[in-house]
Amino acid sequence: MSDIRYDRLKDSYVIIAPERLHRPSGEIYDVERRAEKRVCPFCEGNEKFTPPEIFAMRSSDSFANEKGWKTRVVPNLYKAVQIEAPHEHHYGMFEHWDGFGAHEVLIDTAEHFTSMTQWSEQNVIDWITTLSLRVKDLRKDKRIASLSLFKNEGVEAGGTQPHSHTQIIGLPIVSKVKREEYERLYQHYKHNQNSLIQVLIEEEIKADGIRIVTSSEHFTAFCPYASSHPFEIMISSRKALGEIDTLSDDSIEELASLLLLVLKKLKKELKHLNFNLILSSPPLQKNTFNEELLSSMYEANRFYIKIIPRIFKYGGFEQETDILINPVAPEVAAKLLRESQND
Ligand SMILES: [Zn+2]
Repeated sequence: MSDIRYDRLKDSYVIIAPERLHRPSGEIYDVERRAEKRVCPFCEGNEKFTPPEIFAMRSSDSFANEKGWKTRVVPNLYKAVQIEAPHEHHYGMFEHWDGFGAHEVLIDTAEHFTSMTQWSEQNVIDWITTLSLRVKDLRKDKRIASLSLFKNEGVEAGGTQPHSHTQIIGLPIVSKVKREEYERLYQHYKHNQNSLIQVLIEEEIKADGIRIVTSSEHFTAFCPYASSHPFEIMISSRKALGEIDTLSDDSIEELASLLLLVLKKLKKELKHLNFNLILSSPPLQKNTFNEELLSSMYEANRFYIKIIPRIFKYGGFEQETDILINPVAPEVAAKLLRESQND
């Protein structure tokens, strides 16, 4: 069983998870990639190679754990935390939680796509809808304080399975980074009665849109002013549209189309694209977080997706200071992507 340990010096957490050691390595990933469709546990027809499904978007005449699905969610075989572990907090100098939490894998498509850039718009709509339904369900478990929704595509981004997939991790704690981010949004809202993210985007538009890549009716894709990574992109709603589990079908469709466009631009310009994709997810439970903050989230926050291409590796300076060195100015990245035409 894993352990969620509190780092008293850094006020942060670490997950000690021995089961993760048995994951397929990057080397296997490459072999699998070359062997194309060798036995891929995520391909349609290979359902027996995964633990039983938690959820699947499937045709009404198909059966659980069989063919006939569009998206499929299963427990992660190499889980960092598990829902069966006791929900117990141990205090003291060596403070920790037993490895309680949810760790799910969303198999994004039944087809063996190795990149999200190969998906159709309908694939993206099904993917967002599935994430939305899983968040709605996990929100009911009052022991889960926060969720992380992310996708690692490619070895350089930490991906170990070539078949396109996304992960959902629910923890009994809220990480320091998340806690501080939403605290800042809340403080800004309290003093200004508007959303810091919305103000930032409005200012980006006023700055001649030099860091904006593209926009749709309600969403803007831009390279953030203080981008930590080259070609980092944030796609955010400008008006309050809710969180992943409350976005309307129309918003999901609009977002899917914009996201796919941005990914295709990145692929075209960078050629070799390994990336992390993160979907915003505010803390969940009022009992574990400032109640006033959570009830103001609809107005204070804006739903966003971050795409972080993994181009450079990081060293000691970044470890020590938390300051990343980014050799590509976001204005340069945005201009290149804005002018990039998809075929
Ligand atoms: Zn596959």
